[in-house]
Amino acid sequence: MADLARLSLNTVTVREQWDLPQAIEGCVRHAIPAIAPWRDKLAAYGLGNAVRHIRDAGLAVSSLCRGGMFTAADAAGRMAAIDDNRRAIDEAAALGAQSLIMVVGGLPPGSKDLPGARAQVRDGLAAVLPHARAAGVGLALEPLHPMACADRAVLSTAAQALTLAEALGDGVGVALDCYHVWWDPALAGSIAACAGRILGFHVSDWRLETRDTVFDRGMMGDGVIDLCGIRGMVEAAGYHGLIEVEIMSRLDWWQRDPDAVLRMVQERFASAV
Ligand code: ZN
Repeated sequence: MADLARLSLNTVTVREQWDLPQAIEGCVRHAIPAIAPWRDKLAAYGLGNAVRHIRDAGLAVSSLCRGGMFTAADAAGRMAAIDDNRRAIDEAAALGAQSLIMVVGGLPPGSKDLPGARAQVRDGLAAVLPHARAAGVGLALEPLHPMACADRAVLSTAAQALTLAEALGDGVGVALDCYHVWWDPALAGSIAACAGRILGFHVSDWRLETRDTVFDRGMMGDGVIDLCGIRGMVEAAGYHGLIEVEIMSRLDWWQRDPDAVLRMVQERFASAV
């Protein structure tokens, strides 16, 4: 059973119901100790407002979601992505976020060059890494399920993310999202190999009858992922930090009363994670 002291609310879980100040107040009301904001809501509230509000609320910030999206059809697009990632690093530093989540980007528009896209990702990360190191912000490479390879992340497995993190060196690690990595036959060995480089751990569930591969994530315990088992692997690899609940659910949880969602998050965090 996961300790509620490790629970962090990834704000996408209540994205459709609450803006960032409401999510912060929701965490306070439910005694959830940590939060992971998304940049669109952060921009809407204002960085300074968010920094003050989160600090005054006494919340830890497990991560900022998200940087990445380095792949582009031309050099100007790649440079714009690098500039935007530097801003994201500054925001993460201001928030005291434990890491910046990196969803690295898919194939550039019109391209079928997957190795080329992966090279763009590596080069983009290398370009922003000095800024991240100077700011003290860890870059957390998040592998996404291969169904997202074309449009969101050419990083698909924990092993692939670890290989890239090790090649880039200090300041780069891996974020393990159960929704994206649970199916991987090499998962146990890959998580063990990630020891010392795990910067984040995200939970939700994979509904047996998934109706939308992005926006139909299940509440922990409502699907087929062995969340306790994966948590055990992550802890055996030395990660005992915050655990983000990240549920994108257009058809269900985004339709519900957000306070009821947070109560269910806590209940299932304790019983199913
Ligand atoms: Zn995630």
